[in-house]
Formats: sequence, structure tokens, C-alpha cells
Amino acid sequence: MTRPTLGRARWWVAAALALVGVFVLGATAVRFAPPGSTVAVWWPAAGLAVSFLVATARGARAWLFVVGVLVSSAAANAYGGRSPLVALCFGVANAAEVAVVYGLLTRGGRRPALASMEDLWNLLAATLAGALVFGLFAGLTVSIGVGGPFLATASAVTASHAAAVLVFAPLGIAVGTRRTRRPGFEDLVQWVVVVGLTAWVFNPDQALPLAFLPIPVLVWGALRLGLRTVAIQLLVVGVLAVTLTSIGGGPFAAAARVGGLRPETVGALTQAFLVTAAVTALSLAVASTQRRAALADLRSEVELSSVVLDTAASAIIVVDRAGAIARLNATAARLLGAPEAELVGRPAAEVFPVDDHERVSAQMAGIGEGAVPLHEEQDWRVTGLGVRHIVWTNAYLTDDTGHRTHLVKTGVDVTDERAARTFVEAVLEAATATAIIGTDLDGVITLFNRGAETVLGWRASEVVSRKDWSLLHDPAEIDRRAEELGVEPGFDVLVHRVRGGAATETRDWTYVRKDGTRRTVSLTMSGIRDEGGQLTGYLGVAEDVTRRRQVEVTLQVALDREREAVEELTQLDRTKSDFVSAVSHELRTPLASVLGYTEMLEDGAAGALTDRQLELVARVDRNGRRLLSLIEDLLLNSRIEAGRLELAPRRCDLSDVVASAWTSVETVTAQRDLVREVEVSPRPLWIEGDPAALERMVTNLLSNAVKFTPDGGRVALAAHPDDRRPDTVRLVVSDSGMGIPESDHERVFARFFRSSAANERAIQGSGLGLSIVRAIAEGHGGSVSVASAPDEGSTFTVCLPVAGSAGPPTKAASRTYRDHRDDS
Ligand code: ADP
Repeated sequence: MTRPTLGRARWWVAAALALVGVFVLGATAVRFAPPGSTVAVWWPAAGLAVSFLVATARGARAWLFVVGVLVSSAAANAYGGRSPLVALCFGVANAAEVAVVYGLLTRGGRRPALASMEDLWNLLAATLAGALVFGLFAGLTVSIGVGGPFLATASAVTASHAAAVLVFAPLGIAVGTRRTRRPGFEDLVQWVVVVGLTAWVFNPDQALPLAFLPIPVLVWGALRLGLRTVAIQLLVVGVLAVTLTSIGGGPFAAAARVGGLRPETVGALTQAFLVTAAVTALSLAVASTQRRAALADLRSEVELSSVVLDTAASAIIVVDRAGAIARLNATAARLLGAPEAELVGRPAAEVFPVDDHERVSAQMAGIGEGAVPLHEEQDWRVTGLGVRHIVWTNAYLTDDTGHRTHLVKTGVDVTDERAARTFVEAVLEAATATAIIGTDLDGVITLFNRGAETVLGWRASEVVSRKDWSLLHDPAEIDRRAEELGVEPGFDVLVHRVRGGAATETRDWTYVRKDGTRRTVSLTMSGIRDEGGQLTGYLGVAEDVTRRRQVEVTLQVALDREREAVEELTQLDRTKSDFVSAVSHELRTPLASVLGYTEMLEDGAAGALTDRQLELVARVDRNGRRLLSLIEDLLLNSRIEAGRLELAPRRCDLSDVVASAWTSVETVTAQRDLVREVEVSPRPLWIEGDPAALERMVTNLLSNAVKFTPDGGRVALAAHPDDRRPDTVRLVVSDSGMGIPESDHERVFARFFRSSAANERAIQGSGLGLSIVRAIAEGHGGSVSVASAPDEGSTFTVCLPVAGSAGPPTKAASRTYRDHRDDS
């Protein structure tokens, strides 16, 4: 309900006008007071004052207006011919009445209203109280001031004022109410009827006692047109009735003429008519307004509840006392697999898709006795969805007498949640060897799986919900780690990195079991976050790695021992190499001397030798050279082993090297029955190389060819540019000898490798020749390869880069060049 609030200035103007109205109505009433009567028949001024106050004023303004009423009423009385003192007394009486009515209507800070029967009672009570106060004042004034009768006066004015206030005040209250409907044709008709009828009933030519006739029309308005219209019509009917009666119209004046009634009695009858009309019309208007509001509330409540029902995710089913479905929502209809309309009225036990129909039947039959538990869970076989697990909350509706009339079932389908939960629980429980421990942000244990029970020896029930994470850890280790991290020892030490933003942190920790034994675990910590990414707790996944760590330590120890052994062996090998190298050096000098003397003997330096002597000296020389060759191989090998194959490269012609090597093996080859072929390119084969080393390489290949080729065979040596690669020269040593099986092709270049065939046939050799060949070839940035098959001879090919075009020497060669010293 809203109430028009007038601005300050406008209120003063309105109040002044109202007070003028009070004066005019008061003066008119006094003037029209029946001749011989000391008081007026009706006092509309009181009604106007109350009506204005109720509609507009609050607080201090109201009391100022009451003073205004005093002045204006007194003035009206004085103007009407009453003595100043009497006029003043009537003024005071009027003001007191207005104050009492207004005070009672607004007591306790309430706003005057006509929204309920209680409000109507308040209005009647306030009106009566105000009228009684006025009656008392007026009675005293008349009896003391003019010597009139107290009681007659008091009762007459009480009635006249009460009637006036009751006719006016509702308008003051209704001004602020909202119009409930637009005025229509019915309003017009009703207005015409009510005004016309009242005017007809109270018209001076009308003698029939039809005073009751306007009342049904007022009731019509009250029931159909709203409070505001009723209030205005009351006023119109009141003014018409009083005015017409005062000029002798209507049933009351007629009765006075016929029955000789006194004017006061006519007044009293008119007032009784007004009170009757007001009370009847107002009470009906209030009741119908209330009913309309209640209906609107109910309608919106029903609408709201049906919207709530149909949009609810829960299934809601209302079952009546007889066990029949009275109402259900869309979710429930979906679960029951039929449209809502088909299900209403059917027995619940029949349509519920449960297994134990009998139990449900018994329950439904006993709704009146409260046979259904308030909480239950059921498995429903839903078409198309399979078995759904539903948790029901049941409630009974009761009537005024407390009897159960309906059962309201609210069900939530928890099948999916259960399945998800069971799955996660199963995964957690299945991990029997892995400890999974969840905590909240402060380290209170929230989860402790079967694996954790196994690893730690505690039962979940003993640790969950306790802030006992520290129970599981070695305190000394926590302290140490806290110091490393520079934080206080506590739960933070475990989750420091994760709290700092890392996704996970894995490291070894020592867990202390319930029985006090210690286990090493590899613990991976991660954060648990909610949907908004906010950290809500931690999850630790720990694996017992005690055994693994022990094995790792053992392995490490074994590995260290092995390394030491290898170092010792390497040292030993180095000593051996040094020894061999030293011995070879020592052997070379005397051997060279021996060979020098044999040469001298052969040359006849000691006189001419006999053939026999020459033959023996030649043998000494041959074997001596073999020995020297072996020593050279050993020395070279030592250098290669030590990474000190020192080459002195210079621009030289490979053809010269080949010729020189060919000559040096001639003494050996000459003794054998072999076809020997040499084919050297007529053009010089310039290469960047160490002639001595290269000669050694060719010598080794040639002596192998001779060694492994039986008499009657062929040994060939060729050196020429590579047809396909102009930057390369090729040196090929081939024979028709015993050949090398494919499986040995790579191994022949390894140090000390000798084929079993070579051993069986007692072919002399050290197994160093080819390894030296490869070292020298590679030392020149070249390579060596073999092509051979058993009994089909062998062909060894060395490729060397030509001078100037040589690609970068190999790493070994480049180092060798750098290390080159003159003392070689
Ligand atoms: P050695 O000749 O002193 O035994 P090498 O390193 O020169 O050592 O040769 C290694 C092995 O390669 C020889 O024992 C032999 O079995 C095989 N071999 C080398 N050259 C030939 C060849 N021309 N014909 C057959 N086998 C050969």
C-alpha cells in the first residue's frame, strides 16, 4: 500500500484548505442544527479532519493540524452564533476527538489501513472512542455552558460524530490504496444506480420507508468494485442522505411528519442508517479484497510449486491415503516410464518398478498409519536406463485433525555417483602395495588406503581424521630436510614444493611403521585442487623401495670394486707394455749389430767364405731380419697402444715406397716358388705421408701374402690412382693363397689375432702385422679393407688421399702429427 506524500509547501496549502473545509462544514452544520436543538444533527467537519489527517499527515504536522482543527471548529461555532466560551469548548472537543481517532489509528507507528478485518475493527473502535470523547466534552459544555441536558446531548453528538467519521475516514485510508481494476461499464451502471436510488429514496416526495434500499447497491460495489469506490460512494450516499433528510426528504423526515418525531430522533435515525451502510459496505469490501489477495497468493503459490516440481532434478511423487498417485513431477514420470497424466490415479505399488512389490503394497496400504519409513533406498528397474539406485526422503501431509492424508516421496538417483565412488574406492583399495595417503591443507589425514595399511602397519581407522602425519615420518629426517629448505620443521617440509606451485615432487623418505621399524619409500606428493583450481589438500603416493635401495647400494659397492680391479689391470697392462717396449729397444741394438756383421761376412770382410759358410751366414741373416721385423712390430704396437704412433708426413711418391718395400721382401720371396707381379702407375702417386711407416705397411702386407700362399701360387702388388675417386690412390696386395673365411674379415685387423688355420699349419707370425697396417693407413687419413674367401686367395686394398686433396686427417692422425717429435 502506498500513501501519497505531499511536498512541504503543498501540504500547508492542502491543510489550510482542509481547515477552511472544516470551518465551512462546521458553520453549515451549526446553521442547519434543528431549531431548538443545542447541537447539530451531523458533524461532517470531524470526518473531513480525520480523513485529511489519515491521508497526509505524520508526526509534528499531525499535531499542528489538530490545533488548526481546534481553531477552525471554534471559529465555526462562533460564526454559527454560539458564545465565544462555548465555541472554544466545542473547538477543544473537536480537536480532542480528531486527536483520539488519529492517535488510535496510528498507535505503535502503524499505518492506517483497511486490508483486514482487524483493521476494520480498529477503525470502528477508534471512531467510537473519538466520538465518545467528543460526546463527553460536548455534554459537559452544554450542561455547564447553556444549562442543557448532559446525557441527551452527549449521546446525540456521539452518534452524529461517529457516523460522520465512519463515512469520511475510509476515503482518507483508501486514497493510498492501489486500484485493483480498471473502471468499466459495470462501475458506471453501479454508480448511476447507487446515486439515483439514494436520491430517489431520500427525495422529498418520497414517503415510502425504503431507507434500506441503497444498502444492497453499496454491497454490490463492495463485492465487485474495490475499497476506494466503496469509500467514495459511502461519502456520496451519506452527504445525499443527510442533506435530503435535512430538507425534509426521505423516510426519516416522513416518519417525523407523520409520527411527530423530534428532530433529534430523525438525526439519530439518519446516523443509524449511515453507520449501518458504512459497516456493511466496509466489512464486505475488506473481506472481498482479502479474498482476492488470498486467491492471488494461492494462485502464484500453486504456479510456483508446480514450476519447482517440474524443474526439480529429484523425483517427487505424492501418494494419497489409498495408495494412489495423486501428483508427480516430470522427473518421477521419466523414472516410471509413462506420461504424468497416465500415472495419476493409479496405485503406486502397481507402477513402482521394484522387485519387492509386496512390501511396497503393504507400505502404501499403511500410509494412514505411517507405515512408510522417512528414509529408504530402492533399486528401480527403469526402462532404457537399467537398474537405478534411488534414495527416497518421505514426508507425510496431515489434515487439520492431524490425520495423515498424503505421502510425499522425494527421490534422488544416486546410481552414477555410487558407480564413480565405487570405482575410485576399488582403485584405491586395489593398490595394496602402494600407500596412498590423502591429507587436508594442515596435514590431517583424510584418506589411508589398504596399501598404506600394509606399508605402515597402521589401520585406516587409527589415523584417518587425526593430524598425525608426523607419526608416519622419521622426525630427524624431517628436521634435516627443514634445514635444507630453510623452513620450520612441520608438515610444510613434505609439501613445500607442491605448495610453491610444483605439480608433483618425488623423493625418498623414511616411513616409521607402527611397530617402529623403518622403511624407505619413494613418495610422490601432489596437490588436490577443486574446480576453481584452489588447493584443498594433498595426495601422497608412496612405494616401499627399501629392498631396491639396498640392492642399489650393493650394486654400487660391486661396481666400485670392479672399477678398482680394472684400474689395477690397466696399470698392469701399462707396465707390461712398457716392459715389452723396453726389451724390444734393448734387443734392437745388438740385433742390428749382428746383422751388420753378417753383412760384412757375406761381403767377404773376413775373407772369402765357402759356399757352405755363405749358406749358413745367409740363414743367420734371414732369421735375424725376421727377428728384427718382429721387434719393430712390437715397438710399433707399443706406440700404437700408447696412442703415440708418430708419423713424419711429407710429400712423397707412393711408387717409390712400393718399389722400396718390394725390394726389402725380395730376399724372402726369392726363396719361394711364386709368381710375383708388380704393377705401378707410370705417373708419380703424390701423397702426404711418412715413407718409412708406409713402407712398413706395404712390407707387412707383402710378407703376409707370401706367408699364406703355398709354392706355385701368385703374389701381386699394384699401386695406381683410384678410377672412381680422383682424390684417392689405391694400393692393392693380392695373393692366390689360403684365403680368409668371411667371419674373420674384421677380426684379422685386431691385435694378436691369428687364424686357427695359421696356427695349425704352424705359419709363423705374431698377430700384430695387420693391426699395424690399419693404424698406419688410418694415420694417413686412409683405410684398409680385405676381400677374401677360403682357398681363393686374399686381396688387401689400402686407399690413401692424394697430396693436397687430402681431406682432414683422422683424429688419431692429427694428434699424431701434432705430437711428432724428432727423437722418433
Ligand atoms: P700374422 O701374420 O703375424 O699372423 P697378421 O696380423 O699379419 O699376423 O695376420 C693376422 C692373421 O690374418 C693371420 O694369422 C692370418 O690368419 C690372416 N692373414 C693375414 N694375411 C693373410 C693372407 N694374405 N692370406 C691368408 N690369411 C691371411
